[in-house]
Amino acid sequence: MIDLHIHTTYSDGQYAPAKTLQLAKQSGVTVAAITDHDTVSGLGEAETAAQKLGLQFFPGIEISVQNRTELHILGYGIDRTNQALHRFCQNHAKERQERSTRLLAYLEKCGAPVTLEEVRQYNHGKTSGRPHFARALVEKGYASSIQDAFDRYLTTPEFYAHVERPKPTPEEGIAVIRQAGGVAVLAHPHQLRLENAELDALVGKLCAQGLQGIEAYYSRHTPEQTRFYLQLAEKHHLLVTCGSDFHGPQIKPEILPGTGIGRSLCIENREIPKYLQEAIAAAQSGRNT
Ligand code: AMP
Ligand code: ZN
Ligand code: FE
Ligand code: FE
Repeated sequence: MIDLHIHTTYSDGQYAPAKTLQLAKQSGVTVAAITDHDTVSGLGEAETAAQKLGLQFFPGIEISVQNRTELHILGYGIDRTNQALHRFCQNHAKERQERSTRLLAYLEKCGAPVTLEEVRQYNHGKTSGRPHFARALVEKGYASSIQDAFDRYLTTPEFYAHVERPKPTPEEGIAVIRQAGGVAVLAHPHQLRLENAELDALVGKLCAQGLQGIEAYYSRHTPEQTRFYLQLAEKHHLLVTCGSDFHGPQIKPEILPGTGIGRSLCIENREIPKYLQEAIAAAQSGRNT
């Protein structure tokens, strides 16, 4: 079983890298990538744990970028000591911290005040993401579920206009991944909520900026969506990847590592890691010549 999209406590996942990979292995995963939001800080720990568990491991990252709407770019095989990537992540962390301050003030104005201490209970001292705020809002009775907290407070026009942090462009996100010797892949295309023709056009544009793959297999994709994303991959000569987006039961209760939602992710494509490995090797030899 292959799972190339997994989060840990280094971003908004519930478990530390070693525990996360242990759970993945217990679910039957044999090939894994850790892809925390905008950070490579957990990758050393993850690599050591993967070795001990006998898992094939890809170092990864998931970068949030913005054109008209937000989109996520996964990077695989990145050199986690790369200076440009490091600066990029530091900047993201700073913007995220400043967003936390604005978000606290905004929630107070909405009549749903939470404190940073309450939020930090759920993020184990690392960066604060929206899921941590959502969890605190639920615990304090301001929302009935994580999804309700997102709908009421964390995805509103007001949130995006006045609270959300500035994000790099897709071109900048793709460039920093490639500069660090990585392969850039469009995450969960369904989340863009685009018509097929619009997505096709966007993918064409991203390819011209250096995109190399698409996460066609994803926990929340319907079989029809997956088929369309596989067609897009073929048309644009993109690699295909597969990921659950596991965060742990407190954050995304319905998603299990390796299998997704109710086994939505059980695929038998043994070639995915091989093609990804080849693309990473090509990226790195290209960078060194
Ligand atoms: P952040 O990077 O802090 O802005 O938060 C991103 C996280 O929030 C990711 O794990 C997303 O999956 C999650 N997220 C974004 N939008 C929603 C939504 N509408 N419902 C639930 N989770 C969401
Ligand atoms: Zn997340
Ligand atoms: Fe994402
Ligand atoms: Fe993710």
